Amino acid sequence: MKLTYLGTAAAEGWPAVFCNCEYCLKAKERGGKNIRTRSQALINDNLLLDFPMDANMHMLSNKLDLSSVESVFFTHSHLDHCSPIDLFFHAEGCYAHNLSKKSMTLYGNKKVGERIGQFVRAYEEERFGLEFCVIAPYIPIVCGDYTVTPLRANHSSGEEALVYIIQENGKTLLYLHDTGMPYEDVYEYLINNRIQADFVSYDCTYVTLPSGGGHLGLDSCQVLRDKFLAMGIIDENTVNCINHFSHNGKLIHDELVPVAEEMGFITAYDGMVIEF
Ligand SMILES: [Zn+2]
Ligand SMILES: [Zn+2]
Ligand SMILES: [Zn+2]
Repeated sequence: MKLTYLGTAAAEGWPAVFCNCEYCLKAKERGGKNIRTRSQALINDNLLLDFPMDANMHMLSNKLDLSSVESVFFTHSHLDHCSPIDLFFHAEGCYAHNLSKKSMTLYGNKKVGERIGQFVRAYEEERFGLEFCVIAPYIPIVCGDYTVTPLRANHSSGEEALVYIIQENGKTLLYLHDTGMPYEDVYEYLINNRIQADFVSYDCTYVTLPSGGGHLGLDSCQVLRDKFLAMGIIDENTVNCINHFSHNGKLIHDELVPVAEEMGFITAYDGMVIEF
């Protein structure tokens, strides 16, 4: 499985659009991997996780053919994960020519469906080549070579936010964005279904700050990783990666990498490609 991190910031980006804090200024000055856009990831070349306002930039900077994407799984409706205005331009004809795949299926909760509907009012119509499916926790979806299982996220009170198990070709990814410490039923599902992850992507929004609700920081990522290990959900061969960072957490990428490494984590950056 190939995982490409397209955007690795929290909602406001890093540097954040109007921010002059020292961490945004430092990131702007140093550039490179210290520049983080909004949350999105690509599996192989045909499954997207989320569709933020930076999706067009992700297409440009990674030279992607987004028309080869067949499935988009939305985690929740927050704008840094679900900013669907560009989906309108999936319509073949005037906006898009020579699409590699004619249709794209969008999966998400009811609120995600409503948000997409605001921008692409007739998204169910054939001309957009889009279909929306409402999904629910713990009901696996088989699409192509993938089995994708939504898990209940501890994130947003106004909707059923989801994180995902993604399985393909005997490999398992746990994609945990956005969530605070998981609910008990998440561990139960993982244990009862003998899920063993090859790669885990942890929410590290708070970075060096103590974790608050709905997200994790370095401290709680470590607690969660150790809990997964004790439960047999991961083992010593699992790659543990932190992702989704806020400028309020202070450490820019260059500074965070050695701190995370010491704790047994790799640190995601925009454009990072991992094969496992
Ligand atoms: Zn987010
Ligand atoms: Zn800032
Ligand atoms: Zn969120």
